[in-house]
Amino acid sequence: MFQIPRGTRDFTKKEMQKRKYVENIIRSTFISFGYNEIQTPTFENLELFTAKSGDKIIEELYSFKDKGGRDLALRPELTAPVIRFYVEKLQMEPKPLKLFYFGNCYRYDRPQKGRYREFTQAGCELIGTNTPEAIAELIALAYTILKNAGVKKLVLNIGNLNILSLIFKKFKLPKEQQTYITPLIDKSKYDEIFDALKDFKIKSEDINLLIDLLQTKNISEIKDFIIDDEKGKEELERFEKIIGLLINAYEIENYNIKIGIVRSLDYYKGVVFEIDAPSLGAEKQLCGGGSYELVSLFGGRDTPTAGFALGFDRTIVALESENYKFETPKLDVYVIPLDSNLIEKALEIVQLLRKNKVSVDWDLLKRGVSKSLKYASSINAKHAILIGQNEIKQNSITLKDLKTGKQKLVKINDLVELFMK
Ligand code: AMP
Repeated sequence: MFQIPRGTRDFTKKEMQKRKYVENIIRSTFISFGYNEIQTPTFENLELFTAKSGDKIIEELYSFKDKGGRDLALRPELTAPVIRFYVEKLQMEPKPLKLFYFGNCYRYDRPQKGRYREFTQAGCELIGTNTPEAIAELIALAYTILKNAGVKKLVLNIGNLNILSLIFKKFKLPKEQQTYITPLIDKSKYDEIFDALKDFKIKSEDINLLIDLLQTKNISEIKDFIIDDEKGKEELERFEKIIGLLINAYEIENYNIKIGIVRSLDYYKGVVFEIDAPSLGAEKQLCGGGSYELVSLFGGRDTPTAGFALGFDRTIVALESENYKFETPKLDVYVIPLDSNLIEKALEIVQLLRKNKVSVDWDLLKRGVSKSLKYASSINAKHAILIGQNEIKQNSITLKDLKTGKQKLVKINDLVELFMK
């Protein structure tokens, strides 16, 4: 017996129906915001991922040497591959360039509910603009996708790494102290931040003020703190404009200012955001993104970039935990010839309907009517078409509604039109 590798999943047809249903909503929402889909390879040169994050990221990757001795890695995310693609081939495209993707990612994570070693991300990159309108639209897009998919309880958290840096600067925190406390900020471990800063000989009242600012939901508190910094004031005004657009134009109500959002990938700069589904508990983050800088690192001409990645698998888990009623696709018709010499006629009808985009299956096992009807119900067929000698003599078939059990004689010539309604 073979077993599935740890952290991977097989999907049943029922699960695939749910996934395809949500995937279609995600795709159509991206398209409705003017994005176009692209695709990149499943594996890349390892260096693409170590360029910014350093060798420490290798622990989290599936990396390997190929037979030619090249160091490769299965992609852990798609932003670096998409920017690699952009720098290699798309720099001349008209701006802004709005690209979206859908793809499997691989991380050597510790598997648990909502955390897998193979998972799917849907995401996008917005290249060539970072106006407040552009960033607000990007955040609204992520939120709208999850709303359209049907997730009811969502919380949007918005932060700003430039403002966070300014706050650090005002507290005169050296780089290594910032590096030490950043992951603690990301995990909201305020007690540990307090202890660490105490060890760094920062005054208790300053630490309390910093922790206060990291937690405040009130921009004016931050404004008062960095009031004498021109750059900080400008950044805050931009930030306020983005939030204003999200509230007024995009009608997003459930949001928090959270200046302490620190995305784990190292290339983010400026506005960052996360969208959580509180119903999920520990692995509640459905989406994360923001402004970032990678183009020049990959050798391209500098241009603003922003994007987000949405955890597709977690979105499904969130919908399931909210008892979402997934639409199950139904087969339009199941065709049953009542006699073996009617098989040809049955196939003719099958083909006629399929050519007219009606979904059709038919009795390939040549079993009796009652077994065939049972099977038709089990595969969610809406109707059965029974083809018998008597009906054929009248150029007709019997159409049975499998929900109500009602049946009627229908002329073959009228069949297509019936299903077009
Ligand atoms: P990240 O690229 O780490 O910002 O992740 C973006 C989104 O992908 C997260 O918000 C999660 O929803 C999802 N995600 C990240 N890692 C995993 C994983 N191991 N399994 C399932 N989903 C994940």
